[in-house]
Amino acid sequence: MNLDSVVKYHFAKSTQINDSPRATSSDTLTGTDVMAAMGMCQSRAPLGYSAFLGKMEISDNEKRRAVQLLTQYGMKHCDKVAALRKLSSNTKVKVVQTLAKFAFKDYCRSAAGVEQCECCKGAGVIKARAMVIKHPGCGKKTPPKLAEEETHTLCQKCNGKGEVSVACCKCKGRGEAVHREESELQGVPVKRTCKQCLGRGYERVPAADAFRAISGYAPGLTSTVWDKAVKPFYEKLITELLASEEEANRQLGKVTGNFT
Ligand SMILES: [Zn+2]
Ligand SMILES: [Zn+2]
Repeated sequence: MNLDSVVKYHFAKSTQINDSPRATSSDTLTGTDVMAAMGMCQSRAPLGYSAFLGKMEISDNEKRRAVQLLTQYGMKHCDKVAALRKLSSNTKVKVVQTLAKFAFKDYCRSAAGVEQCECCKGAGVIKARAMVIKHPGCGKKTPPKLAEEETHTLCQKCNGKGEVSVACCKCKGRGEAVHREESELQGVPVKRTCKQCLGRGYERVPAADAFRAISGYAPGLTSTVWDKAVKPFYEKLITELLASEEEANRQLGKVTGNFT
């Protein structure tokens, strides 16, 4: 049993749809076994467990918990970076928490094809207050009548959908692209790992966004220091999420053996 089966189990349970034949054979886990295994995995690999379930949109609670646990991990290790060590403890927490949020967002991208539109926060429209002409007026005696009103304009970025695709624009999420020169040479389409996304199929969350966000808390942090010291720390948080997910998978496999 692995984390993917936890997700399948969760959805099967929550939608009450179970089209697989009723399990009677002894090598299938019962619901109680699954619950116990999940509990065990959660206590042995809390970050990986919450991160994965959060990534799979199982619950917002798990998402929050993953960011919280990653922040704790970051706080434990951030003093190795001089630029972070120098910050006041108040600022430090805010900076590490922000980096953890961005790291989690980046980690989640591998699973989701779409993401909430930043521009309109998922609403599809941009609300603003503007002066609207209520009456055009008439000659010099009656001036035009204006009133402030809430206006709704279609969000240009997502075209009103409220979400944007995070698939790589070059390979459209396939992770590989047709290599033009090689294809011409061989006379057949030759596919190569997409250079833009390095085969991931989706665009990474720009690290510059994370830098911009923490600059609000630590204005003294220069882009040189970011590139040299803080960005590697940020990348480490992402690596930690991936490693924790693997660990959670390993723990789950250990508890359940080869059962599925
Ligand atoms: Zn939008
Ligand atoms: Zn690509």
